[in-house]
Amino acid sequence: MTHEAQDQASLFDTVYTAYKEFINPPLARFMKMAGAGVEVESRGCRIYDHTGKSYLDFCGGYGVFTLGYLHPRVVAAVREQLDHMALSSRVFFNAKTAALAKALADLAPGDLSITFFSNSGTEAVEAALKLARLSTKRKHIVSTFNGYHGKTMGSLTATGRDVFKQKFEPLVPEFEHVPFGELTALDRALEGAAAFIVEPVQCEGGVIIPPDGYLKGARDLCTKHGALFIADEVQTGLGRTGYLWGVDAEDVEPDIMTVAKGLSGGVIPIGATIANHDVWMCAFGDAPLLHTSTFGGNPLACAAGLAALEVLVDENLVEKSRLQGAYLLERAQALARKHPEVIATVRGRGLVVGLELHHEGYGGVIIPESLKRGLTAAYTLNQQRVIRLEPPLIVSRAEIDEAIGILDEAVAKAHDKLGALTA
Ligand code: PMP
Repeated sequence: MTHEAQDQASLFDTVYTAYKEFINPPLARFMKMAGAGVEVESRGCRIYDHTGKSYLDFCGGYGVFTLGYLHPRVVAAVREQLDHMALSSRVFFNAKTAALAKALADLAPGDLSITFFSNSGTEAVEAALKLARLSTKRKHIVSTFNGYHGKTMGSLTATGRDVFKQKFEPLVPEFEHVPFGELTALDRALEGAAAFIVEPVQCEGGVIIPPDGYLKGARDLCTKHGALFIADEVQTGLGRTGYLWGVDAEDVEPDIMTVAKGLSGGVIPIGATIANHDVWMCAFGDAPLLHTSTFGGNPLACAAGLAALEVLVDENLVEKSRLQGAYLLERAQALARKHPEVIATVRGRGLVVGLELHHEGYGGVIIPESLKRGLTAAYTLNQQRVIRLEPPLIVSRAEIDEAIGILDEAVAKAHDKLGALTA
């Protein structure tokens, strides 16, 4: 073994051992088995590990890296901000926080205008749920089976997968789940409800696209019942689905919208809950400190967010997502036709595409075999039978071709190893 190889091996051992001892022992073992190395650098659509090997990233941080890794304009904005102030004193006004809130109001659908800033998707959802209850003075929250909204108590209660929830019961009372894509049960559930929270596409649910007219129908039912429509755009927002917002597919105007993941260009964590002015005032008009966050809206994250929104617009990334997404879907469909015994179906909207396998066992081969060949791909959190492809919106056709080439080999390998499996 050369000195260099020895150094690489010892770095891996040190990091892996620390994960096993100090972070998450079973997850560490699982990641090692899947072939994960130590990430040391990332640029554009690629990650480099401790051996210098490069990986095309089609997980995209589960939707975080819309601009790819380390977009130079976002990095420059953060560096510049760091020379002046990183976190806010919270005693003074801050220009970056103000500017990002204004930019969001300009870009958000309908008349959404007031933003509560936080640091993650689940916090953005918690704020939305509290806002809805307070604003309507009602308690009941309706969400969907198979939906995903986060893992803190409120968002977890809204999440629609039992395995994440059962061990933590009792959860938050007065929540009810209805089937996604279906309006009859929703109509009944919304009677007297504070809000309906829904993802425009159930990304973690296995990239489930609702039938045409569903989002609009749900919006109308909320209006009919005086319930608020909360669009959870944590994953679908900011161009991911080929629209600026997932709800734009049906021109729906929510009362509250949650955003996170891609909002600060993959450089500093951020979450945002954007509400209609009247909705916000009804909740917090006479109690501005009822819901707060120490780090939420900090200048570093907001500087990153402002730069990220500018890049999204200047580089036409929403349109690119639509065009490249159509190409990725077409290539993935061709892959499914070539391997019908492994891939049951393919679906997608913009640059979130799901490959539904006949059996989740195939994923256990496809994911590590892809990694071995230089491609990251992952399950969706609620549905292990679906492999998601969610590359940065800057992905090129050549990179899509490269990813499909790798998947082709990995899928063939899964079939060779496992033969014909059915669910
Ligand atoms: N809502 C949606 C739609 C999500 O996809 C996610 C994360 N996958 C969340 C909320 C939670 O976000 P976070 O992991 O940042 O808390």
